[in-house]
Amino acid sequence: MSVSRQRSLAALDRARASVAGGDSSAMRVLPYHPPIVAERGEGAWIVDIDGNRYLDLNMGYGPHLFGHRPAFLIERLGRALAERGPQLGFPTELNAEVAEKVRRLFPSMQRMRFANAGTEAVASAVRVARHATGRRRIVLFEGHYHGWSEAVFHRYHAPLEDLPARPGDAALPGTLGMGTDLAQHAVLCPWNDAASLAQVLDRHRGEIAAVLMEPVMGNGGTVPPRPGYLQAVRDLTRDHGCLLMFDEVITGLRVAAGGAQERFGVTPDLTVISKVLGGGVPIAAFGGSRDLMEPVARGTVFHGGVYSSNVMVLTAASAVLDRILDEADTLYPRLEATAAALARGFATIFEAHQVAHCVQHVGAVLSVFLTRDRVEHLHDYRAVRRHGDFERYIRLEHALAERGVYLHPNMFEPLFPSLAHGPEEIDFALNRVEDGVRGCLRIH
Ligand code: PMP
Repeated sequence: MSVSRQRSLAALDRARASVAGGDSSAMRVLPYHPPIVAERGEGAWIVDIDGNRYLDLNMGYGPHLFGHRPAFLIERLGRALAERGPQLGFPTELNAEVAEKVRRLFPSMQRMRFANAGTEAVASAVRVARHATGRRRIVLFEGHYHGWSEAVFHRYHAPLEDLPARPGDAALPGTLGMGTDLAQHAVLCPWNDAASLAQVLDRHRGEIAAVLMEPVMGNGGTVPPRPGYLQAVRDLTRDHGCLLMFDEVITGLRVAAGGAQERFGVTPDLTVISKVLGGGVPIAAFGGSRDLMEPVARGTVFHGGVYSSNVMVLTAASAVLDRILDEADTLYPRLEATAAALARGFATIFEAHQVAHCVQHVGAVLSVFLTRDRVEHLHDYRAVRRHGDFERYIRLEHALAERGVYLHPNMFEPLFPSLAHGPEEIDFALNRVEDGVRGCLRIH
């Protein structure tokens, strides 16, 4: 494929004149991104405004478990929008309907609230934790991302030299313009190492409100929890009287119907889900036990939002949840097989061409790391940083985009295969990967 990107380039130029940076997420238009302005999604594919088609392995950053624009979802959404309107400003029956379905999959979320994005839901859940424990500090982990709120936005992709010398040192603010809350109240810990967490909880004994983590690291590249790690964290948090909070924005309804808590059998106190829940519309949910959520119910811990739980987002969530509740037994094994086939395929190609790599996945959260040296596993953010060859990955990504396959160019971003990625799509992707590797990576 020889791609022309004339219209995309012109559209970005035009946008830059009135949209700061050309788009409304800091992650989307960056100098190392191929300039692709999207027109539409179709199953496993993205079509750009120049008419180029890409097999999409980013899938909108994760919400599209059923592929882009699945008929069952669009039909229900279209009907609700046409017949009811997106936003009514009153409670609707959808509230209970969706929450009951979420509870069937996430029994730990006895009471929940719907929010508009993962960022909001995490920030609200942190308030719940602080109020419940009467403590201020939050433990965050290197490489983990929980949205851009004042409460938790830390420098999650910090270079190695900027990481704290000691587990439990203050987390660095994630952006200019932040207040002082984070530096005073959030401490940073290496992930996947129970001894480090034990040290942090000792060092800040009696001060920690919550330990907040992605139960499978996703935003620092896909890293599974070591066997027993999540349980050890569960035990430590109980011993120290602090809450365990799983940010399942990525893993919820993806690594298993009931998320990482189902897959690994460890139950947190507070949970946040988002992405797959909405199938592409902006919804998140946070929740926990009835007692923990009681102050939210009473309104003493405030949570609001004009658009929270509107007709559009709850209709989408209801449709997605119906599908998952009806078909989980077949959907998740299919996703698992797709991710495993992609993982094996990438690894086989890299081996054949002697490209140092490490492929890791937990269900359909997958990272294809190119590495500077031979390495068997990457167990935490520092290892990904130390061994990862980010420059080479960008070169591979550009070569693949030229050949009609789209991965996010930042190696920290996982691939999100979907149910629309069948055997033909996998073959297409792997053929192009083989060609791309020949074209740009051969000699290490
Ligand atoms: N938590 C995790 C684990 C995420 O991956 C993200 C988004 N990528 C967020 C929170 C923030 O969600 P949102 O962008 O919807 O605010």
